Amino acid sequence: MDILGLRIDDIDMEEALKKAYDAIIIKDNFKYIFTPNAEICMAALKDKRLMTALNSSYMNIPDGEGVILASKILKTPLKEKVPGCVFVQNLLNLKKSFSVYLLGASEESVIKAKENIFKKYPHISISGYRNGYFVKDDVEGIIDDINTAQPDVIIIGLGAPQQELFIYDNRNRIKSGLAIGVGGTIDILSGYAKRAPEFFCKYKLEWLYRLAKQPKRFKRMLSIPAFLIKCKIHVMKKKKD
Ligand code: UDP
Repeated sequence: MDILGLRIDDIDMEEALKKAYDAIIIKDNFKYIFTPNAEICMAALKDKRLMTALNSSYMNIPDGEGVILASKILKTPLKEKVPGCVFVQNLLNLKKSFSVYLLGASEESVIKAKENIFKKYPHISISGYRNGYFVKDDVEGIIDDINTAQPDVIIIGLGAPQQELFIYDNRNRIKSGLAIGVGGTIDILSGYAKRAPEFFCKYKLEWLYRLAKQPKRFKRMLSIPAFLIKCKIHVMKKKKD
């Protein structure tokens, strides 16, 4: 479906996993998946390149209650929320053998994530890793490392919109594999960050938990209601026409 010009795939978790696994086994050209939440959607409305990047993906999964709410406001409700971090963990948990390259988070976090994957998902092999703190001059070396490792899946957690733009800008240089832009998921895999407890998820309050954990996100999170208001205005304008 289309949310103010941004393509979001109307898929549930099972369908998203199947589509991702299909790409892993087909192994033709480089593909990428994004996990847009309302914050990224709002950012894309202000940044044409980000919008183009998002719309060029193999799949955009609806990550977050804000996107679901937006789809309801636009009267084209999406099936369900597919949180990016759960999607990645479920993909690793498919009990299928494939190789993974981790790019993102701090050095300690990415090493711990690699160790945890090794213990928890023994059918997965890690073909390489790199922390997410680098400068422009390092990019070529990182791409070379990924191309030498030839991973099936590249988990990229550099925060938004850096990860989306990194993937888009390098889409013709990365030779193969399925990249997934995952925000803070490497920190969840390492145990350095926790997903919101069940209570918050049940009452659709994950944003509140995140805000309590990282109060400096407040300003950024204002883009969520701003995005919903934009959707509402869009519907009202359409009604008028
Ligand atoms: N990060 C990174 N390089 C940077 C900035 C951030 O690797 O230059 C990592 C950071 O360590 C964290 C993730 O990106 O693991 C950002 O997580 P967050 O949940 O804040 O993602 P967002 O909501 O920004 O997509």
